[in-house]
Amino acid sequence: MPLRGQLAGGEAPPGARVIARFEEDGAPAGWVEADGTVHWAFDAAAARRALLAERGRRLATPAAARLPFHYHRVPAPLRFAIARGLGAAAGARGRAATCAPPLAPVDLLDRAAARAAGEAEPSRAPIAVALTHDLDTRAGLRHVPALAAMAERRGARATFFVCAKVLGAAGAPALLRDLAARRHEIACHGDDHDVRAPLVPARLRADLARARAAFVAAGLAPPRGYRAPAFTRTPWSSRIVATAGFTWESSIPAAEAPSVRPFRRGRLVSMPVTLPADHDVLFAGLGAAAALSAWRAALDRVGQLGGIAVLLIHPEPHLGGGHRPLRRAYGKLLDELEARDDVAGLGTLGAALGLSSIRS
Ligand SMILES: [Zn+2]
Repeated sequence: MPLRGQLAGGEAPPGARVIARFEEDGAPAGWVEADGTVHWAFDAAAARRALLAERGRRLATPAAARLPFHYHRVPAPLRFAIARGLGAAAGARGRAATCAPPLAPVDLLDRAAARAAGEAEPSRAPIAVALTHDLDTRAGLRHVPALAAMAERRGARATFFVCAKVLGAAGAPALLRDLAARRHEIACHGDDHDVRAPLVPARLRADLARARAAFVAAGLAPPRGYRAPAFTRTPWSSRIVATAGFTWESSIPAAEAPSVRPFRRGRLVSMPVTLPADHDVLFAGLGAAAALSAWRAALDRVGQLGGIAVLLIHPEPHLGGGHRPLRRAYGKLLDELEARDDVAGLGTLGAALGLSSIRS
């Protein structure tokens, strides 16, 4: 059934053969004409703004933010078992939702509006693939070189979102300076993975200031990119992140992504993760084969909508970096991406954003 959009206002033009009308909260929302064409009467621009603002805050506060102590004090194997237990409790539907291709309602809306305006279907653009790794704890340092090497073997570089506290480990500043010298991108994942920091303005400001100071003290360039710990964000957190000196963030998980393309949130450019992350797969109790099919399905979706494929693999021992079957699956995915002719290239998220046109 063709979808036409009447982008503002609500009434069918005189002479239209209307066979049904529908309303939302008493206001006209659309009508159906005799030939079966559905006309939507909503204000698409307002709906778009509302969707972007809605996804600006996390849809649910992470369980770890409700604990009275920092959850990294729980030993990693136990933390992982609890996360898997919560994943199992979410049931099959909950698990499927976190590993499904991104819904991207803003992109669907843009597409519907383009069709309504009689524009041609946008042709599929080659997909830029961004490789990202979140270094949450010192234990993850061990797997950083292997992940960097996996990118380099394919002539690519990756973005490492680093918790500044990790820089206190012996050898960490040198390792990260070396990565930067090899043209990997070093971005910021907050100071200490404090999942409550983004919920309180003063706490977020202090967290970011400490993190930026630690980067400079370690001989690293002041970071331009930021990813919130556990994707925790509020309607105002992006403003604070921008004021702290960052120019872009990647703090929305694939399951909540309003768009698979970058968009502006105030002064900050926001680019969601668009492929299921390693922890989505593992906490859902899925194996490497399921991870590969979830990645391929999400990649097709990103391609259809003309977005950036943003991958997230943690170097942490209990996540993708240290999980051998999943790491092998990640390697296989990289091989496939290299071979696909609809992939423009693999690289850092900063580079992918530089190549992409940013919408407001
Ligand atoms: Zn993290």
